[in-house]
Amino acid sequence: MAPTPTYLDHAATTPLRPEARAAMAPFVDGDGPYANPSGGHALARAARKAVDDARESVADVLGCAPGEVVFTSGGTEADNHAVLGAVRRRGGRAVGTTVEHHAVLHPVEHLGGRLVGVDGAGVVDLVELEAALVTDDEGDPVRVVSVMAANNEVGTIQPLLRVTRLVSKRASDAYMHTDAVQGAAWLDLSVVAKHCHLMSISAHKFGGPKGVGVLVVRDGVELEPLLFGGGQERDRRSGTHNVAGIVGLAAALVATASQRDDADTRVRALRDRLLDELLARVPGLHETVPRDAKVAGAAHVCVEGVESEALLYLLEREGVYASAASSCASGAMEPSHVLQAMGVPKELAAGALRLTLGFASSEADIDRALEVVPAAVAHLRRDR
Ligand code: PLP
Repeated sequence: MAPTPTYLDHAATTPLRPEARAAMAPFVDGDGPYANPSGGHALARAARKAVDDARESVADVLGCAPGEVVFTSGGTEADNHAVLGAVRRRGGRAVGTTVEHHAVLHPVEHLGGRLVGVDGAGVVDLVELEAALVTDDEGDPVRVVSVMAANNEVGTIQPLLRVTRLVSKRASDAYMHTDAVQGAAWLDLSVVAKHCHLMSISAHKFGGPKGVGVLVVRDGVELEPLLFGGGQERDRRSGTHNVAGIVGLAAALVATASQRDDADTRVRALRDRLLDELLARVPGLHETVPRDAKVAGAAHVCVEGVESEALLYLLEREGVYASAASSCASGAMEPSHVLQAMGVPKELAAGALRLTLGFASSEADIDRALEVVPAAVAHLRRDR
């Protein structure tokens, strides 16, 4: 019989929250308003009301105006829209950090922008950032700066307030974007959003459905759309609304925000027990980022003398689901650009293990991980 799953991969995605499931049910089962919310008849208006209500709930949590909420197909689209949209509309350059998710990293690289380095804990180098904000020799100003709220691999929280102050001082015309996809479960997004022109979130990282997200676009911020068509979302994002997804996102976000403090305390205690006991039981295991520098759910470690892939295989055999780096389409084990940027030696990065907890994590998950991880590492070391 397959062992009961022990899910320690919440940074990749979370299970659906009951609140989201309940909110979505009428739209999925067909007894809710199923019409196209852009239509003109009564059924369409009912669907539009569901989208409008969701928009208001989201705005309330994010501390922005409902008109500043643009629904997208997820974090990737929101990130691409922020970075590409800013530069395509106003010219100039994009700046990011070397530890951004690929949904920011690749658009910045695509535009020939600059990536600013980080320290050993994954925190952006503010001196290097300041230098990157200066208009270059060709007179090309920086138009968008993208610094994530929390990292998806190691959990590092970025000093966004200091970043935004620097940006407004040195590149006052630049838009400040933050990818808050991994911050949404743990940080007060209304505080995060306050400092930014643009902010991305994705529902499936906080108990909502996959394939739906938000880009907060502050009033007056001008972006070239990524998608042209029917002019939905006030011409900022064409495409028929994903009504069930939007309703589920809003319900999950409201539940996340109302339970955040308790969840943070509970999950932090679980995470700390996991790390303390792993450190005690597994020689040569290193905590990648200090605990006070990262979100409550992150427990990234590097294990000397083992290969991530082999370790993950043994964990999976015992029903423990984790990952090495971020989950990419191919599932391929590539060296992590985040660990590389942090200067983690290659041999150590080869034994990276990303354990991420979330609202669904329990003491039983930690007990099981503590049974399985030390035994798997010992097994691999015996085989060397
Ligand atoms: N940004 C970060 C930090 C992420 O962790 C992810 C997903 O892993 C994304 C963006 C992309 O979000 P989505 O999966 O909704 O496209």
